[in-house]
Amino acid sequence: MAEFTMELNDEQKEVRDWLHGFAADVIRPAAAEWDEREETPWPVIQEAAKVGIYSLDFYAQQYFDPTGLGIPMAMEELFWGDAGIALSIVGTGLAAVGVLANGTDEQIGTWIPQMYGDADDVKVAAFCSSEPDAGSDVASMRTRAVYDEAKDEWVINGTKTWATNGGIANVHVVVAVVDPELGSKGHASFIIPPNTPGLSQGQKFKKHGIRASHTAEVVLENVRIPGSCLLGGKDKLDERLARARERAKSGGERVKNAAMATFEASRPAVGAMAVGTARAAYEEALEYAKTREQFGRPIIDNQGVAFQLADMRTQIDAARLLVWRASWMAVNGKPFTAAEGSMSKLFASETAKKVTAQAIQILGGNGFTREYPVERMHRDAAIYTIFEGTSEIQRLVIARTLAGMPIR
Ligand SMILES: Cc1cc2nc3c(=O)[nH]c(=O)nc-3n(C[C@H](O)[C@H](O)[C@H](O)COP(=O)(O)OP(=O)(O)OC[C@H]3O[C@@H](n4cnc5c(N)ncnc54)[C@H](O)[C@@H]3O)c2cc1C
Repeated sequence: MAEFTMELNDEQKEVRDWLHGFAADVIRPAAAEWDEREETPWPVIQEAAKVGIYSLDFYAQQYFDPTGLGIPMAMEELFWGDAGIALSIVGTGLAAVGVLANGTDEQIGTWIPQMYGDADDVKVAAFCSSEPDAGSDVASMRTRAVYDEAKDEWVINGTKTWATNGGIANVHVVVAVVDPELGSKGHASFIIPPNTPGLSQGQKFKKHGIRASHTAEVVLENVRIPGSCLLGGKDKLDERLARARERAKSGGERVKNAAMATFEASRPAVGAMAVGTARAAYEEALEYAKTREQFGRPIIDNQGVAFQLADMRTQIDAARLLVWRASWMAVNGKPFTAAEGSMSKLFASETAKKVTAQAIQILGGNGFTREYPVERMHRDAAIYTIFEGTSEIQRLVIARTLAGMPIR
């Protein structure tokens, strides 16, 4: 087990500086344009693929860093550049992690390369869980997968919503109900291969922030996929369902919710994205406060401004510490006895909203315009308290964990 450390090692510093360079030189200069266009920034993703940032190898390397700091450090730097573009770069990772976590070696080897494509022909992937009537309440999911034994095929019907890269993805990972009696224990994940008939993009959402990231509905009408597209395989699913039915029958013994453990481990990464946006806005505000003069002196000479900056920086550093702690715990298999993953996401996302609003205030009228990036950063920051579980859901998870109550 790696000791918890707040100091990046030389190799990590090198990676951080390399990512920061890409964020500063490639992502940030393109941010305003793609925000206005509200389209996936394919040329930027391609640039990221060329230098090796858009690839499974890169994320796997960061993910398996035993200090736990690889992923949060990478997310912070990329999202410092721009949240919408960075989400377009890392969004495929959400689907890839779904396959890595539940897939067989063969499924991992077959599908993950098709999610990324290559630098000459980049592809993206989508992870589709949320539905119009199943957001925070995942158990009310309705998308249904039925096994056609005669053909060894699964038939999927339903509508997914809010899918990052939904409809434009080469590979979609879809969560569907296989046994409606079992609530969230009766769900399974499926690969929908490229160009499968019956899958189409529904509404593409026009959003408040992260507008360079594509978000859309995904409609599944009699989508037929081979049995081999069930992640983990049929035998494993049957065993899992049999265990869940047994437990439901005996009404007894609560099992640790594996999905919740996964969320605890993935939420710090969203916290790190929020830290990146917050830091970017803070740096803009600090620079502005040092150079903007009113009443014959820089505005930072006023305690009213300086104290805001002091609070902003303190909260960003506190958020990063929570994120790093939770990431270290996840990588080193520490139990999340106080929902530390949720804590980190809650605090970092609320900090990003607050800090970006303060940055607008410090820039005055300029902060309110699209001539300065803090306006975009404030719009972008709003997403962190919503996706991967809203702030209310994080509080619910933390409170229930502290109380020793089940989280469904
Ligand atoms: C830009 C964007 C990208 C996304 N990307 C993806 C993706 O790639 N894949 C995917 O599957 N999903 C994705 N999502 C979906 C996201 O995870 C959901 O929006 C989120 O989980 C909230 O669900 P909801 O929008 O249905 O809100 P609801 O669940 O309807 O919540 C509405 C409000 O009620 C509150 N609330 C609900 N239940 C409780 C409770 N028990 N106690 C207290 N308050 C409660 C919530 O906190 C919230 O404030 C994305 C969403 C957005 C906006």
